[in-house]
Amino acid sequence: MKQKDGQRIWRRGGLALLAMALVLAMLPYKQAAAAAVQKLPIGYNDELTNIKAEQSGDALYVPLREIAQKLHLEVGGTADKIVVSGSKHSVVILPAKQSAVSGKKTSSLKTYASEGRTMVPVSLFKGVFNFGIAYDASVPVIRITSGKQKLSLQSFVEQNRAALSANANGGKTGQKPQAPSKPQSPKPASSKPIYLTFDDGPTAHTNELLDILDQYGAHGTFFMLGPGISAYPKSVKRLVDSGNSAGLHGMTHVKSKFYASPASALKEMTQDNDALYKATGTRTSLIRTPYGSKPYFTQKYRDKVLAAGFHLWDWNVDSEDWKYKSDHQKVIDSILKQVDQQEKEGIVPVVLMHDQKATLKVLPQVLKTLKAEGYTFEVIQQNSKPVNFWHDKR
Ligand SMILES: [Zn+2]
Repeated sequence: MKQKDGQRIWRRGGLALLAMALVLAMLPYKQAAAAAVQKLPIGYNDELTNIKAEQSGDALYVPLREIAQKLHLEVGGTADKIVVSGSKHSVVILPAKQSAVSGKKTSSLKTYASEGRTMVPVSLFKGVFNFGIAYDASVPVIRITSGKQKLSLQSFVEQNRAALSANANGGKTGQKPQAPSKPQSPKPASSKPIYLTFDDGPTAHTNELLDILDQYGAHGTFFMLGPGISAYPKSVKRLVDSGNSAGLHGMTHVKSKFYASPASALKEMTQDNDALYKATGTRTSLIRTPYGSKPYFTQKYRDKVLAAGFHLWDWNVDSEDWKYKSDHQKVIDSILKQVDQQEKEGIVPVVLMHDQKATLKVLPQVLKTLKAEGYTFEVIQQNSKPVNFWHDKR
């Protein structure tokens, strides 16, 4: 019950924030920009673009030519007298004078060059061309609208939340980057990547688990439940800060609730991601559904959830550590045997384990043996090619 109440309050807080952001978006950009990060993804109508806004001083700036093209505006003139025109309105930008002329009105307009592009305040497109501009601080994202958008700002954010978080983090969750890949040269014989994954955490044992990983210089990917994240935020922060990867496992872990509908599955992952954001300041696009994605996570579920930008991960080595909680040697032998099998078939092993007390007993020997066999313990990245039972590569 406690959990539910907390969540409702938090959701209400989120709505208030959204409403506030909408108000701010109508004001001069001073206030809105103050809450922004340095690089912001930009949405145009219902599309999430690859164009990024930058915060400079107290305003948000966008690359003029890229945005103009997206907004179907023409850019002409010269470098010191840039003419931007739409079907009804136009503006002449004078970078040397830091001013702009629209109709008979001249106003000051700060511009600057960034990576060879002319950056202009995004407010220009509202002031001169009447585009709508909104800002959502929770992701964050800036959204420009022409009036042809179908989604509300909130729906737009929800639909793109995972992709937006990937953008905001530059495609990383803050984990240690994988060894630079050199596709041209053959892999050295010693390069045998393996993904260790831990489900159902975080728990009271997560710190010990991280201690063991640290001890062997290893990292793992943790598919975590929202309530656990809220209960052990420090463990989650440590996990992410020390180069492990965070993934989502939903909120309830109850089959009838999670798989009730595609919308319920998406909602659980989104709420889980919100909890992760609260604990670490980052979101992720990596998900593993409760009990694995087969048989319940059928096409219509995947269409809904993966369209929001999530990447689905199952496993190809099942430790069954949840089943044999006292027979540690059986679990160890089983993992090593299955890993060996995958390796022989040229498949990168993705090992399913659980964040639980029993795993603390098997992990040291597993790490020691695999390390001696030349494996490198890599973490699943947001841009890693997903491994799942459906072979869904989205
Ligand atoms: Zn689970």
